[in-house]
Amino acid sequence: MKQGFDTDFLVLGSGVAGLYLALQLAELGSVTVITKARPDDANTSWAQGGVASVLSANDSFESHIADTLEAGAGLCDPQAVRVLVTEGPGHVRKLMELGARFAQDEAGHLELGREGGHSQNRIVHADDLTGLEIERVLLQAVQERGIRLLDQHVVVELITRYHVQDELPKDVAECYGAYVYDRETWEIFIIRARSTILATGGAGQVYLHNTNPEVATGDGVALAYRAGARIANMEFYQFHPTALYNPDSKVPFLISEALRGFGGRLLDDTEQEFMARYDERRELAPRDIVARAIDSELKRRAVDHVWLDVRHKDREELMSHFPNIFAHCLDLGIDISKDLIPVVPAAHYMCGGVQTDLSGATNSKRLFAIGEVACSGVHGGNRLASNSLLEGLVFANRVAEYLRSEPPPAISALPRAREWNKDGLTNAEEWILVRHNYEEIKKIMWDYVGIVRSNLRLLRARSRIQLLNREIQDFYKRTRIQNKILELRNLGLVARLILESALMRTESRGLHFSTDYPENRNPSREDSILRRDPGHNLQEE
Ligand SMILES: Cc1cc2nc3c(=O)[nH]c(=O)nc-3n(C[C@H](O)[C@H](O)[C@H](O)COP(=O)(O)OP(=O)(O)OC[C@H]3O[C@@H](n4cnc5c(N)ncnc54)[C@H](O)[C@@H]3O)c2cc1C
Repeated sequence: MKQGFDTDFLVLGSGVAGLYLALQLAELGSVTVITKARPDDANTSWAQGGVASVLSANDSFESHIADTLEAGAGLCDPQAVRVLVTEGPGHVRKLMELGARFAQDEAGHLELGREGGHSQNRIVHADDLTGLEIERVLLQAVQERGIRLLDQHVVVELITRYHVQDELPKDVAECYGAYVYDRETWEIFIIRARSTILATGGAGQVYLHNTNPEVATGDGVALAYRAGARIANMEFYQFHPTALYNPDSKVPFLISEALRGFGGRLLDDTEQEFMARYDERRELAPRDIVARAIDSELKRRAVDHVWLDVRHKDREELMSHFPNIFAHCLDLGIDISKDLIPVVPAAHYMCGGVQTDLSGATNSKRLFAIGEVACSGVHGGNRLASNSLLEGLVFANRVAEYLRSEPPPAISALPRAREWNKDGLTNAEEWILVRHNYEEIKKIMWDYVGIVRSNLRLLRARSRIQLLNREIQDFYKRTRIQNKILELRNLGLVARLILESALMRTESRGLHFSTDYPENRNPSREDSILRRDPGHNLQEE
């Protein structure tokens, strides 16, 4: 049996949010970072476009705030947006102090790009590999400071009052650490912590077509929900308008929005431009509008993809600004300076998540959430491009500041957790069931809970997801734990939460578009909140 241990701060996830937080918490006590695959297996490493931040004299906080609020469709928390925008630039500079190499012009000023929905050039970037550069410097800094990072370790469950040896009232949501699964030894052990911080990223894998890495299975939302935390606005899943259409590959590849900011045009199958028919901002309209426009073209013309055209741009400029996209497409035989790029929309970013306040705190005591897993109020009904890396930095710092000013109770005050019960569990013999259920969830979500929704489709999806979740729960109870089973269980719950939230919203707003309520006739301007009934049997989730 692997020995558990105690730590002051338990950070779950090693993307921008988790790593940036770990660096700051190291000054306050012992820190342990848990991450379920390789340290850099995270959405962060895949981010291309950049970080939105007010760093030019021509720009202003008010302009970035206004753009963010407009994209958010009336559901942003204006205070959270102000925090994001005004505190952001300091953290971008901090990344540069840590060694991040962002693109600069010849005079040594940051080269600021433009993306859809932004009224100014304000995207700090490292060519088209911005996320990888951020992940690189943060991982290096974490290693240099000797912070404990356990990779290939998966959080199975947060430790709550249901899991402790002492009898405590169950109606209070509180977190004491996590049960963690070691993928190499197959053991589950206990890490107790004074504070636990979810930085587990998004859930793109819940959709058949998505731009996310394999690790993005919504674990954090599922863990938090089961632990009694409030989950908000899950119906707002952002679809990126332009993922590369490549039916031969299972690994998704994004064609960055920055390419449209650079002058790229969208064409239909007859090579005619179409965006002007949908929005006067054309290719630079916010993502939901561009994604819906493409979706509508695909359905109208019964085709599998549309085209992105950058053939009118200079080849060398394309190669120097977008080396990653250029090389990736060339490998597939597409020379983007001469050929059209086939693109489709794909699930990209989870705007909802674990509801937090401005310090990243959830309604569960000692539990925080930051980055994509959190619903901090900055995105509302739709995220403005490149605001998410920024959110990870700003709210990681806010959690650290909060814990600095309000130190959590000592480890000695934590209750003892019961060992994970493995009795009666057998090895999975029928992996085909796991794979099949996994693929079925993704397909149902894509077909019925995608870019354009209706009550009929949502209800149909709900009955199918309910059935699948019953099967998954049964399988989970009698099978020895492995990462894929944990992911499947979480994915099923996240699918359910997206569906329940979508059914609660009887209007079209932001990313949620329903043909039953095509307009905001019934504006609610309220978050859709889901919370597990505290008296409900945990085993049933
Ligand atoms: C292709 C692509 C391009 C993007 N481009 C941009 C962009 O240009 N600008 C921008 O602002 N945003 C962009 N985004 C979004 C942005 O990358 C993410 O929102 C952001 O990186 C999320 O950071 P995070 O730290 O919250 O989570 P992540 O970076 O996703 O990290 C989550 C971590 O949690 C770990 N984890 C998950 N579950 C568990 C578990 N059960 N146990 C242990 N560990 C777990 C994962 O392994 C991972 O290490 C892009 C996203 C993608 C996919």
